[in-house]
Amino acid sequence: MPKPVRSRVKACERCQLVNATLYRIVADGSGAWTLVCPACRASLETGEHYRYGGTWKANKRH
Ligand SMILES: [Zn+2]
Repeated sequence: MPKPVRSRVKACERCQLVNATLYRIVADGSGAWTLVCPACRASLETGEHYRYGGTWKANKRH
């Protein structure tokens, strides 16, 4: 049985831009995980609370 082909895209939680690749990070002292685009990650990763938790991709299957 074929699986339905869906494009699963998510938006950056900071700038709201839809991106095929997002990073799960902690950006502040609250410790809450946030999904951000590569541009936002670049501006946040210098913060003292920055933690990297993984990469989310729209196409997980190769
Ligand atoms: Zn962003």
